[in-house]
Amino acid sequence: MSIEVLLNQFKEVSEHPHRQIEAYKAQGKKVIGVLPYYAPEELVLAAGMVPMGIWGSNSKTISLAKEYCATFYCTIAQLALEMLLDGTLDMLDGIITPTICDTLRPMSQNIRVAMSKKLPCIFLAHPQYRRPAFGLQFTVDQYMHIKAELEKISGTAITDEALRQAIKVMNRSRKARREFVKLAGQHPEAVSAVNRSAVLRSAWFMEKEVHTAKLEELNALLAALPASQWKGKKVLTSGIICDNPKLLQIFDDNNIAIAADDVAQESRAIRVDAAETGDPMMALAQQFADQDYDVLLYDEHSNQNRRGEFVAKLAKDSGAQGLVLFMQQFCDPEEMEYPYLKKALDEAGVPHIKLGVDQQMRDFGQASTAIQAFADVL
Ligand code: SF4
Repeated sequence: MSIEVLLNQFKEVSEHPHRQIEAYKAQGKKVIGVLPYYAPEELVLAAGMVPMGIWGSNSKTISLAKEYCATFYCTIAQLALEMLLDGTLDMLDGIITPTICDTLRPMSQNIRVAMSKKLPCIFLAHPQYRRPAFGLQFTVDQYMHIKAELEKISGTAITDEALRQAIKVMNRSRKARREFVKLAGQHPEAVSAVNRSAVLRSAWFMEKEVHTAKLEELNALLAALPASQWKGKKVLTSGIICDNPKLLQIFDDNNIAIAADDVAQESRAIRVDAAETGDPMMALAQQFADQDYDVLLYDEHSNQNRRGEFVAKLAKDSGAQGLVLFMQQFCDPEEMEYPYLKKALDEAGVPHIKLGVDQQMRDFGQASTAIQAFADVL
């Protein structure tokens, strides 16, 4: 297949995740919704089911969820609940609700109260201290609980062998996505910002082996392209999510390529693999312990501004001339970390802009003006 055909296939999935659920259900498969962040999709795969990422929606309006949510909940969380309440996600066989931020914690209970008659809600509390032995054991205990709940839904026991196999599938998916991020940054004339997002977003909705096979094919085609003659600008993107095609089209219209990203829905989710040998449950706990440089994770050395410096270095190493921060409205973790990120970027001489965004944004005029002005500065 050509690059264009493959990109169109990813785009089709990215724009219609609901069709994916319907197709899996028509094939007799069970589908488990997975809310952000760091839920072990491996356990869902090992139970013979399909994990389906739920990252809000760019097209829905918050209505029913208002009954359960304070207005200062971010739109990602509110729109996830909206889709559960309005029937969009009725075909799910269960949902995993991580609780890693102050919005997701109460939201997990809202979802449980609102949905428990409709579908099993599996609560996941990651430990704050994830690295000491007691933290690892806490993660294992939590994952054992998820395993038991998934086994009830699937009617299948999750064996160590099945879990090891699932880890291999996920490692291969993460590797292909990391490779794609690199190649897309090197060949922006072949992969627009809109298409780049569609490829990474669709990974949350497709069966991982199918997505990986297509992505490896795309990566091989991109790797074979001659060196890029890109004359536009390059930026690093940062934030929780930036998958709105209308917003990303502004980048393409202004010849701004995405060299790499520090986005939770994109690269933050695929940085760390799990060991493929040994106790697979401990391997998953260790994988979570090894996650780093994320505003959502406790940092024992936070006085050193390691994350800010990591992001500034990422910008420089990727060849980006600046950074665009997509700041989700009402996202406390990102807001609170911003001064430290700014400090590190300023010290490293990386120019940046902060764009306030949410998933109910329909008018991108202001963002367009800001991005154009930033491109001129670069
Ligand atoms: S966008 Fe921020 S507040 Fe909302 S779920 Fe994610 S981390 Fe929590």
